[in-house]
Amino acid sequence: MYAKEFDSQSIEAFHHFMGEARIIVLTSHMNADGDACGSVLGMARMLDHAVPAGTRIVPMLPNGCPNNFTWMPGSDRIMNGDTEPERCAEVIAKADLIIGMDISSLSRTDHLQEALEQAKCRKVLIDHHRNPAIEQFDVVFSDYTISSTCELVLWLSQALWGGKYMDRETATCLYTGLRTDTGGFAFSCDQPSCFEAASVLVGYDIQPAEIHNRIVNTFTCNRMQFYGYALSQRLQIYKEKRVALFAFSLEDQKQFGVGGEDMEGLVNYTLMMKDIELGALLREEAGRTKVSLRAKYDIDVNQLAQQLGGGGHKKASGATCYMSFDDTLQAVCKLLNIENEQPYQCATA
Ligand code: 5GP
Ligand code: MN
Repeated sequence: MYAKEFDSQSIEAFHHFMGEARIIVLTSHMNADGDACGSVLGMARMLDHAVPAGTRIVPMLPNGCPNNFTWMPGSDRIMNGDTEPERCAEVIAKADLIIGMDISSLSRTDHLQEALEQAKCRKVLIDHHRNPAIEQFDVVFSDYTISSTCELVLWLSQALWGGKYMDRETATCLYTGLRTDTGGFAFSCDQPSCFEAASVLVGYDIQPAEIHNRIVNTFTCNRMQFYGYALSQRLQIYKEKRVALFAFSLEDQKQFGVGGEDMEGLVNYTLMMKDIELGALLREEAGRTKVSLRAKYDIDVNQLAQQLGGGGHKKASGATCYMSFDDTLQAVCKLLNIENEQPYQCATA
């Protein structure tokens, strides 16, 4: 009995694609998170054993493996679309099968997007976001009610191979995505299958406490002090609209010596306030601004992110805006209906 059933035609087609392929590329989104790295590396490792000898399995990420996930088994195999674009384009052009993971569309693959879209080979999607771009893929395994792509990969591997190729390293990769996409089993975990998946993976003798340390307890002094500054000086609180917002220009980031990876997770602090229901973080990058949205209760931030050209999940979504940083900030304030409210002034400020 599997916690999730798949349509047998899709399973058969996927088997057929894998059996015929000589080069298989597995890819995910820019600034890969635990679920992106975990699903790509976990699936790659199982494919190593599952496909005929001589088949080349290539994990590839738009800007490589982030520093905080280089401990994951197999991370040294990941090709980097940012630092080795020609080599990546060459492999993609030769690939017989491309597996997109933890992305709803190839438009999330930045440096690899053009090559991936142009590739004429078979494409399979394994994902848990809303509104998947099904027209871009030959076979789609997508379920937005499921906790993480890593959970989906676990059930899919049972349907494909009866769990035959699962081992401690693969289970470590998949547990990481399950752990990070649920914020440590705090959200996106309202289906029993999420905990069933955790139970199956822990059965492979993985070390949940060690994985927690590697994921969470990793701050440098600088990052810790930046968080202190951000929380005390830069959090804009709109009590009436129950919104809290951070915004960091490139100049801010330069001044504090921090970047995108350092800000991962900062947006979640907005929701720790009792009366705040919606949190946002804007981070300027060269030529664009990344927007992160988080919500409690019934607010659907996926719908809000879509209005900015992005998407994601009901409680956690994002967008990439190509207007100026100030214009993006203005657009977000308008979208969140806070443009006419004065932010809260702390008594000690
Ligand atoms: P984060 O705020 O942590 O970057 O992303 C939260 C969620 O929103 C993730 O599930 C991610 O897939 C989605 N997301 C983030 N950035 C974008 C984007 O630029 N476009 C789309 N469509 N989704 C995004
Ligand atoms: Mn995910």
